[in-house]
Amino acid sequence: MTAGSRLPEGSYDAVWASPGRVNLIGEHTDYNDGFVLPFALPHSTVVAARRRAEPGWTVTSEQTGETVAFQDEKVEGWAAYVAGIVWVLREAGHDVPPADLWITSDVPFGAGLSSSAAIECATMAVLVDLIRASGGADLPMQLRPRLAQRAENEYVGAPTGIMDQAASTLCRAGHALFLDCRSLATEQVPFDVAEAGLAVLVIDSKAPHAHVTSEYAARRRSCEDAAKLLGVTALRDVDVAGLDDALAQLDDEVMRRRVRHVVTEDQRVLDTVAALRAGNLRAVGSLMTASHESMRDDYEITVPQVDTAVRVALEHGAYGARMTGGGFGGCVLALVNEDEHESIAAAVREAFAANGFAPPDSFVVTPSAGTRKISR
Ligand code: ADP
Ligand code: MG
Repeated sequence: MTAGSRLPEGSYDAVWASPGRVNLIGEHTDYNDGFVLPFALPHSTVVAARRRAEPGWTVTSEQTGETVAFQDEKVEGWAAYVAGIVWVLREAGHDVPPADLWITSDVPFGAGLSSSAAIECATMAVLVDLIRASGGADLPMQLRPRLAQRAENEYVGAPTGIMDQAASTLCRAGHALFLDCRSLATEQVPFDVAEAGLAVLVIDSKAPHAHVTSEYAARRRSCEDAAKLLGVTALRDVDVAGLDDALAQLDDEVMRRRVRHVVTEDQRVLDTVAALRAGNLRAVGSLMTASHESMRDDYEITVPQVDTAVRVALEHGAYGARMTGGGFGGCVLALVNEDEHESIAAAVREAFAANGFAPPDSFVVTPSAGTRKISR
């Protein structure tokens, strides 16, 4: 889609786009105060706004085909992602001008590519634009992810970390975003796959997500309990050098494996950043595959579909492959030679058919820009 192309005709007071994202590496490290390394997708959500004279807001989504009007009442359903941003901006002391909003997106919903952060961050961008135009204060990009996360946690009611909103707001084309989830410090790390003759293939496993919420809560609790037993603020405070000592202090075999995943995964993010800084993109492949094995064997969050996609991609020449996202379904990323993505995707489709799995989707992505203004 050309960003903005499916908006109703006419002029707008503000039009902004925010992308979906994938996480290159660093899974289930965010709530352990650790490291993540997402990059923005070429897929984005566009939000366009027109000031209106009457109080309140309306939002129309091309994807849901609905218009929802709201003022001070609590909104449920998809429009909560928009109303939550109005709410959080007002909570932060901004005077949000009344407006009509239109939304269109090519980020798939619920595939772990963060269509939720895309709609939140683009909504925030247009509203900040309207606030500024009416004489209000600016809201620097660096401060926006926290507010958008708060809207998703407290207004929508989804317990997500900060990664999605940080990626959708701050990413740069040709880079991955190295994010320290404790300090919120960020660094743009060069990740120009095309220049290296490579491609990142995304395979949407289409596996039905089952028990995600309860399993997520269980993993999170296990990490918090382990941190308490180890006397640290978060598992971030255990490093690979201290891992054996830490594991020796834990009696529970399952908890030991959860800790091992988180501690080694933080190190894999650091190693990936070092490889990218050195321009050694192919070396990232083995770190991705090690991350997948850790999620499969120690964190136990993969399902047969994603394990199959990873195995088949590797057998057909991928440098590395891993599930990305919270787990129990979702997408796989494979780092492949630019001229091999089609044959690898075809091999995965065949393997899915042979195993009786629903057909997967696949597409190639390039690290793209974060939140940006669209001129219309
Ligand atoms: P993900 O972020 O992985 O795509 P979530 O469940 O966190 O999955 O967010 C998806 C939800 O966000 C959708 O079910 C819908 O409620 C809302 N949403 C995202 N994009 C749009 C859009 N373009 N129009 C309406 N609602 C949207
Ligand atoms: Mg989401």
